[in-house]
Amino acid sequence: MYKQLLLLVMWALSFASFAVAEDVDFHLAADGSIAIQGLRFNDMESYLGSDFFRQQGMRCGTKPPLASGAESVMARSVVDCTATMTSIQEEYWPSAVIYVMPVWFHVIYRSDGTGYVTDERIKAQIQVLNEDYGAMLGSMGGDGYDTRIQFELVGITRTENDTWFDSDDQEAYKPVLNKDPASYINVYSTSASGYLGYAYFPQDSAGQWWDGIVLLHAVVGGRYNGFSLYNQGRTLVHEMGHYLGLYHTFEGYAACINSYTGGDLIVDTPAEEEDHYGCSQTYTCGSPDPIHNYMDYTDDICMYQFSAEQANRAVCSLLNYRPATYEVVPDELSGGGGEGTPALGLILIHLLQSE
Ligand SMILES: [Zn+2]
Repeated sequence: MYKQLLLLVMWALSFASFAVAEDVDFHLAADGSIAIQGLRFNDMESYLGSDFFRQQGMRCGTKPPLASGAESVMARSVVDCTATMTSIQEEYWPSAVIYVMPVWFHVIYRSDGTGYVTDERIKAQIQVLNEDYGAMLGSMGGDGYDTRIQFELVGITRTENDTWFDSDDQEAYKPVLNKDPASYINVYSTSASGYLGYAYFPQDSAGQWWDGIVLLHAVVGGRYNGFSLYNQGRTLVHEMGHYLGLYHTFEGYAACINSYTGGDLIVDTPAEEEDHYGCSQTYTCGSPDPIHNYMDYTDDICMYQFSAEQANRAVCSLLNYRPATYEVVPDELSGGGGEGTPALGLILIHLLQSE
């Protein structure tokens, strides 16, 4: 009896600390028109290009960890990448290994076919993740920084459910669809409440039922098969950054703070006072704003960089908060990271053999 009561309390507490993306009154009609917060747009293209979309920050619905809930899932007493600070450590620099993370992709679509994402688009999306996180030479992410983090698609689920798709009600679909969030990255595609996407930080959500990433179905895909200005698959690259503990480069919209305890909690991304859409260079803090960084809000085609310290913090978050979500693969199998496309086939063969 006491055990049941304890479980009930724990269950209730798990909901209490659920940091929901902002509740938005959003509806995607059968004719493709969009109603949001009392406004109406004829189609997705006009919505994504609207002043409303930009001014309301709809590119990303990820919210910083709740101060009260932060670190609640953390077992270790000392970490170097908390919700409020980063300590750059030698052990997190890219080294002679690659971290391969398994991804489950959950497609939720409407009975009229809206939101049905094909296998090909999902595979192309994973390829983009690997190009951008691996800075693969010859790819559109080739000018970036090799984080040594890679991704493997392990499964796809598809669910036809008009209510789940339209309402994007996480509390309804995530507990049903998720595959052990402590072991897998769960990515869901729905109407995403009018955002391009949103995710949860490991510092307060690792392994919880809501952990994972939600994407607007239209922006799932590879190069040039996403949608409109967001057609390079980089919404997931950005959201995966949050999943790995990275903040927006303009975090807090603060007064040009650039320290390990303010703004985005790292120093080698220049201070930036506000988010940036489009693709023009701005200088809100006297230096060029990091408009090419994946963690800004610029057009997909304009973002192609992580910084070295972002990679350090991401690896730190992975090792400390998500210890069961990756497999370590020796770098020899990759063909010597940074010297062209890692032989991912070899990596996956290695993983299969090691199971
Ligand atoms: Zn974001």
